[in-house]
Amino acid sequence: MYYGFDIGGTKIEFGAFTPSLDRVATERVPTPGNDYDLLVDAIVDLVNKYDKEFDCQGMVGLGLPGMENADDNSVLTVNIPCANGRFLRQDVETKLNRPVKLDNDANCFALSEAWDESLQDKPSVMGLILGTGFGGGLIYNGKVFSGRNHVAGEVGHMRVPIDAWLLLGENPPMLQCGCGKKGCLDNYLSGRGFELLYEHLYGEHKKAVDIIQAYQTGETNASAFVDLFMEFLAVCFGNLFTAHDPHVVVLGGGLSNFELLYDEIPKRISRYLLPVAKCPEIIKAKYGDAGGVRGAAFLNLPSKG
Ligand SMILES: [Zn+2]
Repeated sequence: MYYGFDIGGTKIEFGAFTPSLDRVATERVPTPGNDYDLLVDAIVDLVNKYDKEFDCQGMVGLGLPGMENADDNSVLTVNIPCANGRFLRQDVETKLNRPVKLDNDANCFALSEAWDESLQDKPSVMGLILGTGFGGGLIYNGKVFSGRNHVAGEVGHMRVPIDAWLLLGENPPMLQCGCGKKGCLDNYLSGRGFELLYEHLYGEHKKAVDIIQAYQTGETNASAFVDLFMEFLAVCFGNLFTAHDPHVVVLGGGLSNFELLYDEIPKRISRYLLPVAKCPEIIKAKYGDAGGVRGAAFLNLPSKG
């Protein structure tokens, strides 16, 4: 049995999956965000409960908004204050007396999608989240590739490419990122970025859904803006695809529901790729909010092939 925990700022979602990846249990508990011992106990208690229920010793994967320091394995996270700087994985391992995996929630999202039945034969899958921020994960042969520092796939903290920058007209906004840098993609390719860029270009603050609705009715500013944003995305995705050349790209997050993306990006991207390169298949994520817990559970799956 594979157990996944999607640990968020307010709630922990637990899921149990059979070896054939069917979900057979779900439970949600509040995250004890300010009490580390209670956080560890909440995880351990759920594992013990479901071990009893299924008469097994499940394999445990933890997904959270953050990552481990690759040198000392302490957790770096903003959203779960009590876990920051603590050795969460090891502490859970000690209490459960079994190995535990931990990875960030964007990698878990990508892993969940990569194990969907329809992608079983794809050697590499890139997951990209166009949500409140912009993030992603890289999956090779069914395993997360996280690199030397666990930052592989942190595409939101790459800076805007020069030819995307030039699309933004005079004095483009150099947006400050939470990581301390300026110009990170996180602030441009997200729902928030979509709204900020519209405001920069047209001097009016509108919600992303309203801009998209105005586009659908053929409103002039919204139409010009959506055209520009699609080109902006194509340049940025072109860079990502050149570096990683994924077989499939899965999009999640609020903006991934904008169906136009799936027509426009493939149409526009070839001029930003090497002549020999074809645009990978770009599809919408299937699992929505369940991706975090699925991916956390699947951290313990073996490599494909
Ligand atoms: Zn950043």
